[in-house]
Amino acid sequence: MSAVPRHRSLALLGATGSVGVSTLALVERFPDRFRAVALAAGWNVELLAEQVRRHQPQLVSVADDASAAELRARVPGYTGKILAGSAGPLAVATHPGADIVLSALVGALGLEPTLAAIDAGKDVALANKEVLVVAGALVTRAARARGVRLLPVDSEHNAIFQALHGHNPAEVKRLILTASGGPFLHHTTAELASVTRADALKHPTWKMGPKITIDSATLMNKGLEVIEAHWLFDVAPERIDVVIHPQSIIHSMVEYIDGSVLSQMAVPDMTIPIGYALAYPERLPLTHLRTLDLPAAGALTFVAPEPDHERFPCLDLAYRALRTGGTMPAVLNAANEVAVERFLAEEIGYRDVPAVVAAVMDAHTSGPAADLPTLLAADAWARATARALRPDAAMRAPEAAAREGAAREGAPRDAMRAPKKVAVAP
Ligand code: MG
Repeated sequence: MSAVPRHRSLALLGATGSVGVSTLALVERFPDRFRAVALAAGWNVELLAEQVRRHQPQLVSVADDASAAELRARVPGYTGKILAGSAGPLAVATHPGADIVLSALVGALGLEPTLAAIDAGKDVALANKEVLVVAGALVTRAARARGVRLLPVDSEHNAIFQALHGHNPAEVKRLILTASGGPFLHHTTAELASVTRADALKHPTWKMGPKITIDSATLMNKGLEVIEAHWLFDVAPERIDVVIHPQSIIHSMVEYIDGSVLSQMAVPDMTIPIGYALAYPERLPLTHLRTLDLPAAGALTFVAPEPDHERFPCLDLAYRALRTGGTMPAVLNAANEVAVERFLAEEIGYRDVPAVVAAVMDAHTSGPAADLPTLLAADAWARATARALRPDAAMRAPEAAAREGAAREGAPRDAMRAPKKVAVAP
């Protein structure tokens, strides 16, 4: 009596990213269950060409005309459709042959195609947390109105989704998100001031793209996940807690009103949450994965995030944005995307990332998140504002910045001069 179709047809937004690649590996492993019918990627044409050869999707989209021409040259026998530009992801998201859309683009770019997928009545396996951070109210309202499922792929939210399964949501006391703590868990404030791009790109437990790896180092990733959890599970911010768990074995927990805490544990491998989301409500026999060997894993430890939040201010900024509501989370997200880009381009220092986000939020007066144009306007304003900030101190040599960091010990950065307070849309 299972309502699960024997074959699920997938459209992938972000086919060549780490979640897209893991998803296509699952499709190959379970060819009788899944088929990839549409793929959207950006500029990684070499990998995309290989995916097109193996999966023969009906539709492919790439960033621009040059990439489309290169793809055609690489797969001369391909008879499906190739689109270029921003119409591509929208066409992939609404492909008539797709039952489920994997939303795995990076950043706010994924918002419009994800909304389009929902409007087209597709279930969405959501890996792109920024979609809910920017437009959680709109997206969840649209999903309810269309009767489609939002299936969380983010490992923490997938864990909570599993721990909620079969339980009464009214009996939930709180959600507990686990965080690995990232590569700088034990750094002092002074050490954080001289962290480089290469240091920040080394994540201790997960292999991911550069944007999310930096977000994991600053803990902004966890902040974005608090906002994501709020929208996915309809739980108030004061009932969502974060605990540092460096081993990344417990992927998150739900505490119920009787004091019972249910967790989901597994080896840290994105194949598990991706598989659970795509096969839901069934489970896939992922026999090729390493089993969780608890004695070998050793002690599982938990640390409270430090009470003053001095070393990792991004988590507080995210809670603040969620409590403020309206357009503020979109502004937090956009400012963070620009700050991370500028850090990766080595234009600003590591400690400037939260400074940029805080300065842009301080300059913003939040308004109601009434519709998509309002949110996109707030997003555009925040990006422009974050790009215009001058990181005087960050341009100095790392040693000088480190000395300065030691001298200040967490005093607010005044090098990032915020523009005058500007209201975005009413
Ligand atoms: Mg996560």
